Amino acid sequence: MATPTAASTPLDAPDVVPLAQPFINGREVELVTEVLRSGQLSMGPMLARFEELFARFVGTRHAVAVSSGTAGLHLACSTAGFGVGDEVITSPFSFAASANVARSTGSTVTFADIDPHTLGLDPEAVAHAVTSRTRGIIPVDVFGWPADMDSLSVISATHGLAMVQDAREALGATSQGRMVGTAGVPAVFAFHADKQITTGEGGMLVTDDDDLAARWRSIIDQGRTDTGRPLEHGDLGYNIRLSDLASALGVAQLEKLPRMLALRREIAAEYTRGLAGVDGITTPRPDGEGTVRSWFVYWVVLDEALDRAEVRAQLTERGIETTPYLSSMHLQPSFRELGYRAGMFPVAESISARSLALPFFPQMSPHQQDRVIGALRDILGA
Ligand SMILES: *Cc1c(COP(=O)(O)O)cnc(C)c1O
Repeated sequence: MATPTAASTPLDAPDVVPLAQPFINGREVELVTEVLRSGQLSMGPMLARFEELFARFVGTRHAVAVSSGTAGLHLACSTAGFGVGDEVITSPFSFAASANVARSTGSTVTFADIDPHTLGLDPEAVAHAVTSRTRGIIPVDVFGWPADMDSLSVISATHGLAMVQDAREALGATSQGRMVGTAGVPAVFAFHADKQITTGEGGMLVTDDDDLAARWRSIIDQGRTDTGRPLEHGDLGYNIRLSDLASALGVAQLEKLPRMLALRREIAAEYTRGLAGVDGITTPRPDGEGTVRSWFVYWVVLDEALDRAEVRAQLTERGIETTPYLSSMHLQPSFRELGYRAGMFPVAESISARSLALPFFPQMSPHQQDRVIGALRDILGA
């Protein structure tokens, strides 16, 4: 494989170890150039190629590309029937979009607490949160660990709910040998710059359901019909298509996805080895019980006695980027105004208050990683 292009760190700060960095090389340039030269910048063959390769990788009948993960999740929620008067259960420990999209459909968001080991929705908490108005569940594969789809499917079948899987952090993860995205519910992936593969901005919906895929294809394209008559519109639609330029990035990234996932796995294992025995932090649980995660970020959870802001400040001083990740959504002003308060979801709150994501990307050098490990050991007195 060709070497990646030089780090994008500005020249006046050559020593910073960045939190994340896309892994771009000559292949992306080659395929984007191919699209530019072809003159077909949208709705062309590169888009079809990206969708086909993606469906084959995940193992679903259909993959429909969209302009962002958030747009895709909103579409999947509306075609799942979430709407005004409904309650939709999701995780407070997630990126903003999981809860925001449910609200955008007019539904009320009901949070349920997470499992402290998987960091995904705790099925028992979900079962308790179900009311007569509950319409659906949005499980999130947090940090690349697949949501407990088996337990959630039982709850959903019992109460006649619909599910949409927010798989945006879990491309390539497997559960009991099954690839994430093949659990029989619509699943959504995202290709923002820090994800396992990137198209700059972009997302992908997957399903085995022919009718649902056809509906998605129509809605992302102004609701056009597939009768072959031009400019005939059968559904209310939008334009949330992905361009062929972005798709070219996607194809190049998918080609090297297995290698990038392997590199992420090795770097994670090296962190876990390097941080073993350091007092005051917990490293991520290893894969097991039939689950192989897709490493999205590497994070540590600090003991309560430690001051995370102080640890972060000291790492920043040594040129190491970190981020407190993730925040609890129910404590954000946009959800507090709905009546959510501290203390409602103690597991999510406790982990949100103590987790710290470290620099993590496939082309991270051993030297960069040694610097992070050394700095953290030093700061924590190991
Ligand atoms: C990245 C991410 C998103 C955002 O997807 P976009 O493509 O940026 O819209 C949403 N939810 C989760 C869990 C994510 O990790």
